[in-house]
Amino acid sequence: MVSRVIPVDDFDLVIFGGTGDLARRKILPGLYRRFVAGQMPAEARIIGAARSELDDEGYRQDVRDALKEFLAKADQSEEQIAAFLSRLHYVSIDARGEDGWKELNQLMRDGVVRAFYFSVAPALFGDLAERLHHHKIAGRDSRIVVEKPFGRDLESAKALNATLAEHFDETQIYRIDHYLGKETVQNLMVVRFANVLFEPLWNAQYVDHIQITVAETVGVGGRGSYYDKSGAMRDMVQNHLMQLLCLIAMEPPSRFDPDAVRDEKLKVIRALDPVDPADIVRGQYEAKGKANSYIDDVENDESRTESFIAMKLHVSNWRWAGTPFYIRTGKRLRARQSEIAVVFKDAPHSIFGAQAGRHRNILTIRLQPNDGMKLGVTIKEPGPGGMRLIDVPLDMTFADALGSDGEAVPEAYERLIMDVVRGNQTLFMRGDEVEAAWAWTDPIINGWQDRDDRPHEYEPGTAGPEEAAMLMHRENRRWRDIKE
Ligand code: NAD
Repeated sequence: MVSRVIPVDDFDLVIFGGTGDLARRKILPGLYRRFVAGQMPAEARIIGAARSELDDEGYRQDVRDALKEFLAKADQSEEQIAAFLSRLHYVSIDARGEDGWKELNQLMRDGVVRAFYFSVAPALFGDLAERLHHHKIAGRDSRIVVEKPFGRDLESAKALNATLAEHFDETQIYRIDHYLGKETVQNLMVVRFANVLFEPLWNAQYVDHIQITVAETVGVGGRGSYYDKSGAMRDMVQNHLMQLLCLIAMEPPSRFDPDAVRDEKLKVIRALDPVDPADIVRGQYEAKGKANSYIDDVENDESRTESFIAMKLHVSNWRWAGTPFYIRTGKRLRARQSEIAVVFKDAPHSIFGAQAGRHRNILTIRLQPNDGMKLGVTIKEPGPGGMRLIDVPLDMTFADALGSDGEAVPEAYERLIMDVVRGNQTLFMRGDEVEAAWAWTDPIINGWQDRDDRPHEYEPGTAGPEEAAMLMHRENRRWRDIKE
């Protein structure tokens, strides 16, 4: 495949928290890949800014180690790494104090895009915004990138929006949800809105239901104390699953531009009905007889935080009236799998009789692993013996279809950071979207607290608690398998 990489404008990107886990694991390896792809202009610079006392050389060594650890071997070239590291600088800075700000100001160049990535704890976002403004480091055309979590409820999200708005316009704020940077997620919009085939069927008349699954095999790992205060609802549903649901359910925007797309997503969130408690199943992994249950991982025997959640949702509008959306996400499940399945209704009448069995078209959109789309269609089983019907996939796995070797497709973070430099906010969450999502989430979480709700146990390596399966079975539907 011929790569068509268009270099972005020259930039200075400051990564606050440039020595942290996210910077080392995702942001810097992503920038390196864009550098190798030829998308970073030759003069562009990356400035790490964090608390550690380091000089440029010390930071370059740290980033070299991170690249060795987190880049695929095939992506590592000594020559390219050395050239990339020469683009790096470092300032030791205190978000809450005065150290380092003068030095940072002196490092910044005029006449290039200035972007500031807030890869630090959200409690520091306000301090950073305030000091960038006060020291006149950020101007009218600077951009800030903020990481999740964006608040932990409506009140805190509003407060955070208000703090950022004191110093930055909405057009300067890039709230990252890396699910939106995934190639397949963007492709979902193209498949829906650039083909005549799907959109006429994309409604309650033809769609029986939609399933969204984000299954992880990992537990809460070293993030136990953070996760226990959050849970699957705040950590995954309010942001990532909600964004996927929006892209599936939204009306066609009039243009592919940031506000047109985000207006339509916002309408979906606002059309979500409150959820009946009977339509929610929360779970917590519990390894019988072994010491790696959720409560061990978070070191809290009393924890009622969910590491799994399944829900049935309704989008109350003309398009989706009566079509349920089932969503689920959890940790320590059988396989790592993120997918959306659009399950179409049965044909209105079967001319092949009852013995032909039940056949349904299902469009599956796989985010990971092996991203791509498959459309299940029913055909005749080849050979003699009458009309036996089988379902076969029309496979649109992108790596195969496009002859990609996997390298050409940028990962979510790389794509999104380049969008920041380009000034394109389409794949970032707007402040009102985030607030609307919390406004829907808050009463659900408050309900659990009021009712003293306890999550169901589930064995690690399964598809979650039995009760989640029942959510579907009781309506004669079933979840798609979670498997590699
Ligand atoms: P981390 O604890 O590994 O790193 C924090 C960074 O912030 C370090 O570089 C540290 O030096 C810097 N820092 C801390 N206090 C500072 C101060 N007062 N002044 C200046 N710098 C300071 O955290 P992380 O895991 O890299 O997470 C960073 C942000 O990204 C958080 O908001 C987190 O919620 C979010 N996030 C992280 C991940 C992930 O996988 N790690 C995923 C999604 C979102």
